[in-house]
Amino acid sequence: MELLTKLFAYINPFTRLGKKQYSIIFPFLVTTLSAALLELYAYGLVKDPNSVNIIAIVLFITYIIYFSFRDGLRGGFITAGFTVLYYCYIIYSRHLTGQTLIASIETTFILGLLYFTIASIIGGLKQKIDILLEREANEKNKLQTIIEQMPVGVIITDMKGKVTHANKQLGKILDIKIQIGSNFGQGKTKNKASQSPLLYVLHTKKPLKRREFVFEKKDGKKAYIQISASPIYNSSGETFAAAATITDITHQKELEKRKDDFVNIASHELKTPITSMKLFINSLSVRMKQYKDVKTKKIIQHIEYQTNKLQELVNDLLDVSRIQTGKMMFSKEPFLLNDLLRETIENLRAIAKEQDLIFVEKHSLKISADKFRIQQVISNLITNAIKYSDPYSDIIVQIEKKGTKALVSVKDTGIGISQEEQKKIFNRLYQVSDTKGKTFPGLGIGLYISKQIVSKHRGSIWVESEKEKGSTFFFSLPILQES
Ligand code: ADP
Repeated sequence: MELLTKLFAYINPFTRLGKKQYSIIFPFLVTTLSAALLELYAYGLVKDPNSVNIIAIVLFITYIIYFSFRDGLRGGFITAGFTVLYYCYIIYSRHLTGQTLIASIETTFILGLLYFTIASIIGGLKQKIDILLEREANEKNKLQTIIEQMPVGVIITDMKGKVTHANKQLGKILDIKIQIGSNFGQGKTKNKASQSPLLYVLHTKKPLKRREFVFEKKDGKKAYIQISASPIYNSSGETFAAAATITDITHQKELEKRKDDFVNIASHELKTPITSMKLFINSLSVRMKQYKDVKTKKIIQHIEYQTNKLQELVNDLLDVSRIQTGKMMFSKEPFLLNDLLRETIENLRAIAKEQDLIFVEKHSLKISADKFRIQQVISNLITNAIKYSDPYSDIIVQIEKKGTKALVSVKDTGIGISQEEQKKIFNRLYQVSDTKGKTFPGLGIGLYISKQIVSKHRGSIWVESEKEKGSTFFFSLPILQES
């Protein structure tokens, strides 16, 4: 059975496509053997030398097509050559004379030309196909080698989500065996984006950037991965496949968690001593009131100021950990946003350098929100405007009505923020790191907290800014609909 399969594979010309294996012996043997058999048939069996003429034409033209396709130019030319030789032998051995001889020589010549033309067309095409297929196979191997070397998991699927390429790294990251030809990540839920980002990409034809997923490995441990996927287009711009890179971010997540835990514990531990420090400083400054020692009073004032700063910082850190753990509570009440803005501006006048804080009230608007938290947002935006602008510039705080929303803006003419940085400043612990931005102290968590607070109130926060020209921070909140 195995021998039969081998024999079939040997004679099947399609198995040789792309292989550049062109045999000489096989076409030679088949042609000469067939010629010998035909002669045996003509002289031995039917005893009529002319009985094989038609067979010799039909059979040998089939051979020429077959061997040109199987063995390229070499196979085709050998077969055509021996066929013509055989035809010459027929003319010679049949002792032809006169008109018959001339007609036979002419026919052989024309057939010879035709055979060599067929052999060169089919043989040439076959060799071209081989070159193309070999090139494609080489490209595939190159791609596979590059994919294999990559430190991230890589997978490529066809339009149906069937895997065409995958590297070992992918199997390691996902803790599964991925077979070429299998369907990757087809889940049962309707949420295809989380089930198979590749299917999502094929479905929507839109790339997917750094989407994070968490899953449980076979050993029960949680693993975090980040997936970026993109459709692959053919030369006519149609999607025919999708590729994804998968990065294992478990280690990074664990580090982040440890960092968060540390910040959480440290801020909680710092909270109590700072509160008692503040109490002691308060009672100290009350006691100092009866003394006239100006120098000591100044020192105490200084300690008080620094302790307040420290407390603000710890409160911010506590807020971050509350946000992280989903424990930030909001107690909403209806109030006039204009009053809160005015009050906050008045409080902050004391810390403004020489800046003029201008309040523009286009409308008077009531909202239902956590007053303390909204004040935190306003305070953060105005403090930043003071911090990042010239001492003698104006800071304009404005409130106006935009549809069903109250829109508050804080405009400064300070150092400004580049387009690139604007996308990141609302991220946790992000600070602009250019030379100018670096000169201002801060942790880079104020805007992060503000964003979380505003979104929890079904609002939005954003910035419009130009480097060196200034920034305007906006936030909008739903206006209270009074029935
Ligand atoms: P920080 O404590 O560093 O001010 P924030 O989260 O409040 O933290 O702000 C994040 C970063 O955004 C700041 O470090 C600063 O680079 C930039 N930024 C915020 N407000 C302004 C502003 N009004 N003008 C220019 N840059 C600003």
